[in-house]
Amino acid sequence: MRRSHRVIIIAAIGLVGLSLVLAGGYQLMNARTLQVAGRLVHRVETPDKLIALTFDDGPTSSDEAAAILDTLAARSVRATFFVTGREVDRDPEAASRIVAAGHELGNHTWSHPRMIFRPPAEIAEEIESTDRVIRAAGYRGEITFRPPYGKKLLALPLYLAAHDRTTIMWDVEADSDGGPDQSAAEIAGRTLAHSRPGSIILLHPWHGRSATQQAIGPIIDSLHRQGYRFVTVSELING
Ligand SMILES: [Zn+2]
Repeated sequence: MRRSHRVIIIAAIGLVGLSLVLAGGYQLMNARTLQVAGRLVHRVETPDKLIALTFDDGPTSSDEAAAILDTLAARSVRATFFVTGREVDRDPEAASRIVAAGHELGNHTWSHPRMIFRPPAEIAEEIESTDRVIRAAGYRGEITFRPPYGKKLLALPLYLAAHDRTTIMWDVEADSDGGPDQSAAEIAGRTLAHSRPGSIILLHPWHGRSATQQAIGPIIDSLHRQGYRFVTVSELING
């Protein structure tokens, strides 16, 4: 074989290898069900009709918190709120109200960045500063972690594993999967279609997303009628 041919073949193999690594990394970064290190939970295998309702981002304001908390309180349901430190810091009263109502707080980073290609010190600061405001809001239970946009690659999972933190993903994501212009009925319908025993439902009710806010009540009512019981994420994963 001529030398120039060999070079071309080796370069081609190298390019294929590189694209496989990049494609694999992309899959891994967005995977709902696995990461390279540490415990990740996206649902729980159980025959019992248990389900966890999780809300991402926020708390954006005490008014929005009040609306969501009223909906949950009227149905005696406890949920898990993955809050950002920045927003808790801006409205600590809203976070305290959530805790006082018996709900669980989870860590969703301080400033909601994509947690990939970040130095370890920045990852630690995003998570630990958020832990501090979650504790200041009065929450005493285990603080689980959910990465913004669900993105994680290497440094973040290694940090989480080293600090014995559990990553919580989800298996039902109705308000994002169906696009931004869905009605409350569409969000509820999509959520109910995908919920099953052990599911972790993700909703984004903050930032004025009224369709999602209005879907919460109907989702709970329908799942209650089907015999489901709502638990917090910690209760679901620790049995
Ligand atoms: Zn988020």
